[in-house]
Amino acid sequence: MAKHQFQTEIGQLLKLMTHSLYSNKEIFIRELVSNSSDAIDKFNYMQLTDEKFKEENWSGQINISIDEEDNSLTIADNGLGMNEEDLMNNLGTIAKSGTKSFVESLTGDAKKDSNLIGQFGVGFYSVFMVSEHVEVITKKAGEEQAYKFATDGTGEFEITPVTKEAHGTVIYIKLKEDEKEFLSKWRVQEVVKKYSNHIAYPIMMHFKEDVTEGEGDDAVTKKVKKTEQANAATALWTLPKSDLKKEDYIEFYKSLSHGDDEPLTYLHNKVEGAQEFTTLFYIPKTAPMDLYRADYQSHVKLYVKRVFITDDDKELLPTYLRFVNGIIDSEDLPLNVSREILQENRILANIKQNATKKILQTIKKLKGEDSELFTEQYNKVIKEGIFQDHTNKDLLLDIVKYKSSTEDGMVTFEDYVSRGNSEKKEIYYIAGEDEKVLRNSPLLEAYKKANIEVLIMDDKEIDEIVAPSIGQYKEWSLKDITTIDAPDSKTEEEKEEISKEFKSLTDKIKEVLGEDVKEVKTTTRLTSSPSCVVKDSSDPMAGMAHMFAQMGQPVPETPLILEVNPEHAMIQKLDKLENQDLFADMAWILLDSAKLSEGLEPKDKSAFALRVAKVATEAL
Ligand code: ADP
Ligand code: MG
Repeated sequence: MAKHQFQTEIGQLLKLMTHSLYSNKEIFIRELVSNSSDAIDKFNYMQLTDEKFKEENWSGQINISIDEEDNSLTIADNGLGMNEEDLMNNLGTIAKSGTKSFVESLTGDAKKDSNLIGQFGVGFYSVFMVSEHVEVITKKAGEEQAYKFATDGTGEFEITPVTKEAHGTVIYIKLKEDEKEFLSKWRVQEVVKKYSNHIAYPIMMHFKEDVTEGEGDDAVTKKVKKTEQANAATALWTLPKSDLKKEDYIEFYKSLSHGDDEPLTYLHNKVEGAQEFTTLFYIPKTAPMDLYRADYQSHVKLYVKRVFITDDDKELLPTYLRFVNGIIDSEDLPLNVSREILQENRILANIKQNATKKILQTIKKLKGEDSELFTEQYNKVIKEGIFQDHTNKDLLLDIVKYKSSTEDGMVTFEDYVSRGNSEKKEIYYIAGEDEKVLRNSPLLEAYKKANIEVLIMDDKEIDEIVAPSIGQYKEWSLKDITTIDAPDSKTEEEKEEISKEFKSLTDKIKEVLGEDVKEVKTTTRLTSSPSCVVKDSSDPMAGMAHMFAQMGQPVPETPLILEVNPEHAMIQKLDKLENQDLFADMAWILLDSAKLSEGLEPKDKSAFALRVAKVATEAL
């Protein structure tokens, strides 16, 4: 007999389970049944692929027994089982970074927190919400020795060698005094139906029922042993769509996602022909916690002819669809597919392509509140998709949404185009990090005046890279307003005239600013601001930022052009200014404040502040 200490994090988790997370205790059944089902999946696969197990006459089954006298519940499976090392690794420690992020993610809201249990792969420990003592008696397939893992959910556990005939795992749960509700066959059955109805293996309930024999005074009531199947035990996705109701899909989603939430939407497709496969996908209402973590978990399970193969293959769908939950079941893949084969398998590539299209088409069809919800949760990853997935770019461009200078809320390209100038066929946008800065950008002034809609793209670190890679939406071209001439009513000749008139001024400013700007010129795009900076669109680097980003290279800076507004009093006064010192200060202030309006930094912040103070003093 060996006593062990639980890993510190597990100790923390156990305390949490027993003291805080008790609003939704019933889920321990879902978690244990799900573990049993996983273990049966694994053995099922071994039996089909490993000569050693071919002979065994076996079919997967889960048994739940209720013992009222003993105040206990037993959940048993004939799956893969565990050896001593597995027990230590899987139940005594948490290998995955799961627990830590779990403990960090807790919100204090018990209902929400208990939904996190499944998401973080800490399901087994939920049993301590209801039990005072737990024993795991288990034997690994192909091995001789069985073991018992016992704990009362405090800091320690014990592992002892025991005897057990068949491979698989029995979990003995001694219920706490006040958890007797789980001794009721009805209650347990209800929970199984709610969360585990479409687990692919039969879940058998064993219990005792009062049976009365005889009549009147002779009547005797005896406890009689009974067995009943508690679940439908069909892999839901194999059923014809016409046999399934929305509730069935939702119920299955709950068992897949280990949660209580309904999905935003789902899609179920059977493809027949040269290749046969079935897919069932769900889009969760809220994005998974690890959506932006490098070590995110896949939520898609791969089956071959209903045999579970893996839930850890991130290549099954494009990475930008990593929030999708569901199942792929192929009729054509060999059962003994290895990881390497999966990587470059043509059958799988074909399924992936088909699935991606179907998922995007479903998202595109979302309406009203659902569509808004989707955008709120997933707009950013759709932008990743635009960048990565050229095959489906058109579909992705129909889904993505942006803020707008003229409309409330979020708009699609289609919305924009329906309002836009269909002769010119141009979509204007401005991209940056800060919505407020973008909306107040001097570059927008001319568009506001001309009542032209501009898309405001303010997703940090994404839009500035993704937007230039879009190029076209249908026949419409995307134009970054920081790189093009503004709309105005002046003719080329008039502009030429103004430029000549102020040439000595712009030359003088350029002289002061030197290499910090590529050019200084007059502009007609401004109304209330004296100056603005724009990117040089003739520079070969402009618009190539996304290519550098894609290659993982630092993005080179594009040279800036300073434009001044000849109708602004400040520029007109500057044109006549005699004091050369003051002129130089003003030239720098024009550049630095224009940069600030675009969310850029002045080259020398303290020099900027000093100059402003100097000029202000002069003015006072
Ligand atoms: P998860 O199922 O997300 O991995 P759990 O806390 O539910 O997390 O289970 C931890 C691990 O313990 C499982 O991954 C599995 O390796 C092992 N395990 C739990 N229950 C069983 C079982 N009935 N049969 C075999 N292994 C099991
Ligand atoms: Mg589990």
